[in-house]
Amino acid sequence: MKRLFAIVLVMILIVSMCACNDLQLPNNDSKQSQSENNQQTPNEEVCEHIWDDGIEVEGGTDAYLMEYTCTVCGEKEQYIITIIPPYPITENDIVNKVYVYEKEGFCGDCTIEIKANGTFTYYEGMLSSHIGSGEWTYTDTDRMLTLFEKMVRLDENGNWEQFTQSYSFLVEEDTLIFVNKESDNGLGNFLYVKVKDGEKFFAR
Ligand SMILES: [Zn+2]
Repeated sequence: MKRLFAIVLVMILIVSMCACNDLQLPNNDSKQSQSENNQQTPNEEVCEHIWDDGIEVEGGTDAYLMEYTCTVCGEKEQYIITIIPPYPITENDIVNKVYVYEKEGFCGDCTIEIKANGTFTYYEGMLSSHIGSGEWTYTDTDRMLTLFEKMVRLDENGNWEQFTQSYSFLVEEDTLIFVNKESDNGLGNFLYVKVKDGEKFFAR
């Protein structure tokens, strides 16, 4: 991770150096720019620094200090690099909780229960006889919880066909935030309660 930061930083540095070397005076008045050119020292050379991979000068838990050396002229640059910790939410923080939709369900609360055995159930309210159920997945890196529900519907020939409906949520502490574009909206999301992008379910 640190190495990646370093490489990115070096690349930014090289790009910015290139940008500096490309800077030129505005050439609106040709006479003036000519006289300015004459005043410049002809032998002045600008090193197009090529930075090494850098060494860690000083470590730390929140940040560390890196020193980079130009492999051409030996110039040194130091940078403080801040360590961004991964968002500290794991599966264990999500499971064994009932999340309640912030708005009114289909008469009463719309709730989702995330179970530790990898399954979930949801109820949309007292007027809905549908109990949604299926399996869920969670990825730590993008904090995305996705519920997969196997459902049936009539196809165009009047036959029942199975399909999978999915619901995606960005996970924050004790909160599920609905992500519409990551959900498979075969039904326009839940059966009766139509949850909008960014709407929340709070752990009870
Ligand atoms: Zn240099």
